[in-house]
Amino acid sequence: MAYLAEFTRWAKHFGIPPPAVVVRKRHGGSYRKSRRTISLPANAGRDALVHEFAHHLAAEIHGTRGHGPHFRIALVETATVAYGRATRYPWASEYRTIAAWARRHGLGLDAAAAVRA
Ligand SMILES: [Zn+2]
Repeated sequence: MAYLAEFTRWAKHFGIPPPAVVVRKRHGGSYRKSRRTISLPANAGRDALVHEFAHHLAAEIHGTRGHGPHFRIALVETATVAYGRATRYPWASEYRTIAAWARRHGLGLDAAAAVRA
């Protein structure tokens, strides 16, 4: 399972149990808090892994779901671990409210550099 090694490494970094992973055919990812399970298609990009893991992190640390404040901080933290710098995460491809939030906080400045890397 390709994603599991990455999720296990990130979970260890944050001191939380790794999520279970389900590979699915449907497009897009999802997280199910009650089952601590991330579902992703086999060809998911790194940004999708980061987004779904942030749901897991927010759920484990704060018990929260959705895309609120805890999720956004978890997303910054996960992006930092996954990309080395949170600004490398492709914030512009996030949900519009998150992308706008990231812009207000000065994130997404070198997403173009990450694409070139
Ligand atoms: Zn989400």
